[in-house]
Amino acid sequence: MDMGQHVTVAIIGTGFSGLCMAIKLKEAGIDDFVLLERAGAIGGTWRDNTYPGCACDVPSHLYSLSFEPSARWSRVYAQQPEIRSYLERCFDKYAVRPHVRFHTKVVGAAFEDDRWRIRIEGGHEITADVLVAGAGGLSNPAYPKLRGRERFRGEQFHSATWNHDYDLTGKRVAVIGTGASAIQFIPEIQPKVGKLTLFQRTAPWVLRRPDRAFHPAEKFLFEKVPAIRWLYRQKIYWQHEWRAFGFTIYPPMLKVAARMGKAHIRRSIKNPELRKKVTPAFTPGCKRILMSNDYYQSLDQPNVDVLTNGIAEVKEHSIVTDDGREIPVDAIIYGTGFAVHEYIGPVDIRGRNGIDLATAWKDGAEAYLGTTISGFPNLFILTGPNTGLGHNSMVYMIESQVHYVMECIKLMRERSLSFVDVREDLQKKYNESLQNRLKGSVWSTGCASWYLNENGKNTTLWPSFTFAFRARTRRFEPADYELGQKGLHLVKGKPKPQERAANKLNGRANPA
Ligand code: NAP
Repeated sequence: MDMGQHVTVAIIGTGFSGLCMAIKLKEAGIDDFVLLERAGAIGGTWRDNTYPGCACDVPSHLYSLSFEPSARWSRVYAQQPEIRSYLERCFDKYAVRPHVRFHTKVVGAAFEDDRWRIRIEGGHEITADVLVAGAGGLSNPAYPKLRGRERFRGEQFHSATWNHDYDLTGKRVAVIGTGASAIQFIPEIQPKVGKLTLFQRTAPWVLRRPDRAFHPAEKFLFEKVPAIRWLYRQKIYWQHEWRAFGFTIYPPMLKVAARMGKAHIRRSIKNPELRKKVTPAFTPGCKRILMSNDYYQSLDQPNVDVLTNGIAEVKEHSIVTDDGREIPVDAIIYGTGFAVHEYIGPVDIRGRNGIDLATAWKDGAEAYLGTTISGFPNLFILTGPNTGLGHNSMVYMIESQVHYVMECIKLMRERSLSFVDVREDLQKKYNESLQNRLKGSVWSTGCASWYLNENGKNTTLWPSFTFAFRARTRRFEPADYELGQKGLHLVKGKPKPQERAANKLNGRANPA
């Protein structure tokens, strides 16, 4: 399909969100869609993050599509290459690949004449009745604002854009950040590098990861007896789900996690000073609880220094700490996370009457059910505001959202709707109640995290159980939306006489 064409649905991104959306569209008989992918390959997060040790900290039997289980997972917590090949397999099995437009970076989208006019980098345009943003919040690397960073003459890269051509062997390496990514790659690079200086701003809670390889007999059973695989998935789901109780209803329960975290430190680190440095000073869960069996051990090695100082400046070949120490380094690796609060990325989105999303979200991103935004008809955001989780699988949330979007698209077809726009009052009420719920959660216990925006508002996390989100997204309620009934873009059948008349009135062609 050439650019400049019109499609029923345009999807941004080819990660789990884009894939799931595409499969469900096909299932509903809608084949007229494209996936717009800025890179040259599919996979989103699981294509970009290739740092050593990259894995998912949710077991793969749960962190996968419910309708496409796999008996092949080699271990409980699959590594990045395995998750990426799972996605590749799904793209092929469901014949989604022909719908993907590679090297197609969306730079803007405007809702005009009941359709989205989508601008692609390089000047192309495409129009779509429905726009689904599946780019995720963790796709644009965030770099710290450090004085002199651009002056540095050594090698520097982000965990999400790992330079595999750079040999770290024997090098003096500085790592900035101690989040989920850093704690995975540090144990991998520590034995190789000459000297590792870790800049830790906040010590995270790290628990043991109950990882192991599956025995061939287990894989055989998963393959041959689907009921066992299903039960296993249910077990993992509920093991994770109960944590929402501690996170959202009764944070004191998380003292158990604190005890486990401290025991993990005692067991793994001999150096008493280091033990003190890495002991967190906030309630577990306020920032994401991390999982690793070798992170602490790797810090307790002679070639590692953990610094809790801030960075004053970066020089050509060194980093200067805020207490004046100059540390010579050959490479800097940023484990500093992502520009989370953008959601659709730095894309200029204009809704009805030209309102732009950046203005609509100036006090923080918000949506209805994390999916639709008032004033931005026919736009759906997967993993949108307040759909993130600290306790369970995001794939479960994505499937809930995709179901909701499909219910809406089906209704649009049935009723010949040209647009759906969520009611502003409803979106406001929904978000007030959501923010009220968040007040009692662990995320409001005083730590600074990327869950909160610069005004301290939590715009990222779902404040309840994931099954509660699924219940709310099970039905698309037309009364929650302003419905436009002017056009026939989504109608496949013959239009009714009044629809013909409406089309004529609006200058649209009637099908023969
Ligand atoms: P992150 O959790 O945002 O961690 C960023 C780290 O960089 C934090 O330790 C932060 O310190 C530090 N940092 C940021 N700016 C800094 C500065 N100016 N100076 C010093 N330190 C600075 O990022 P991430 O580790 O890439 O993980 C992001 C998210 O990706 C995770 O929360 C998770 O949702 C996902 N992820 C998941 C997995 C998985 O296994 N499923 C693996 C990797 C990532 P502070 O804590 O003080 O802010």
